[in-house]
Amino acid sequence: MSTRRFNNVKDEDEQYHDKLRRKTENEEAQIYLLKSRGQHLLMNPRVLNTIVQKSNILPTDTVLEIGPGTGNLTLKLLEVAEKVIAIEIDKRMVEILHKRVAERGLQDRLTVICQDALKTEFPQFDLMVANIPYGISSPLVAKLVYGKNSYRSGTLLLQKEFARRLLANPGDSEFNRLAVNVKLVADVEFVMNVSKKDFLPCPKVDSSVVKIHPKTEIPEVDFNEWCAFTRTCFTKKNKTLGAIFKQKGMLMELMKLQETKGDEENNTIYSDYHVNDAEDEDGARNEGNGNFSSTVGKDLNLFKEIINDILRSGGFEDKRPSKLSHEELLDLLSLFNQARIHFHGQVKPMDESEAELASNATMLL
Ligand code: SAH
Repeated sequence: MSTRRFNNVKDEDEQYHDKLRRKTENEEAQIYLLKSRGQHLLMNPRVLNTIVQKSNILPTDTVLEIGPGTGNLTLKLLEVAEKVIAIEIDKRMVEILHKRVAERGLQDRLTVICQDALKTEFPQFDLMVANIPYGISSPLVAKLVYGKNSYRSGTLLLQKEFARRLLANPGDSEFNRLAVNVKLVADVEFVMNVSKKDFLPCPKVDSSVVKIHPKTEIPEVDFNEWCAFTRTCFTKKNKTLGAIFKQKGMLMELMKLQETKGDEENNTIYSDYHVNDAEDEDGARNEGNGNFSSTVGKDLNLFKEIINDILRSGGFEDKRPSKLSHEELLDLLSLFNQARIHFHGQVKPMDESEAELASNATMLL
């Protein structure tokens, strides 16, 4: 019985999309699909079914879908989930979606939020399942993995290259800041490749489905600090850390940051160092019990030396960030932090940091 209904729905879907395809091709479409909004509808029922199957949806689950479009995936999700919450930016899409869902009598289980998914606080959900607009992949993945929602998994259809970068491991040529930041808190599983021919209109790029699983044990690290640290390390990911931390512009910036932080926290930054290194070079340095700006602040060479010492002490100076494991990167960050060198601007209460992480996500990944 349910299979028959399923088959009928599939046929209806196919008819609907044939019609839509013809209309689009004849330029008579009531809806113009916008490239700028990443509007590429997934048409292949086999791919849609596999996405749903691989998501392991329970009948009690609330599924969050980003960018439902005309509802190809939404309709399949509604067949298995208790509830679907869809966030869609385009009102025209929402109208079509409501209509199609109502035709099947499924409207009670669908909530549509007509907004920008990046600017909306996510509601509670168990799973995210979505064919997202590729233009917002980075911030969206960041919002998923670093957001405050707890979730079981996220099955996402992404641009193939982006998926490959997410899946990369240390030492792989694609391993970069995106992978290192996401994989600190989540495991990423490859599900399948999807041909560009499966979409309407056909995009220029191929796609892949991945499944993101939040890690059960997450290292104890301030995420803002971690992300700022990896941003610094991965600016030149294939250079050695010794070379990366020799760049003058970056050192100046980092040094300035310690200055503001030192003032903010009224901290004794590098006290170990200026006691030993600075005593006879400049008498003023030993005054003011180690305030950063009055002692080390203006001395780029000394700062460089401190950094070098840290890198050497951990055996990091000849290593390349793109080849380091999370453990090694966490060790290095901890060495910096022990020397009171920080990478992120301000110390903020947890709630604010989370909000910042979510809203600045584009910069993080
Ligand atoms: N999931 C559908 C449609 C994918 S196209 C399918 O598989 O057929 C991507 C959809 O995301 C479009 O409907 C587009 O309007 C929507 N979208 C684009 N930017 C968005 C944003 N910032 N927030 C929410 N939805 C967005």
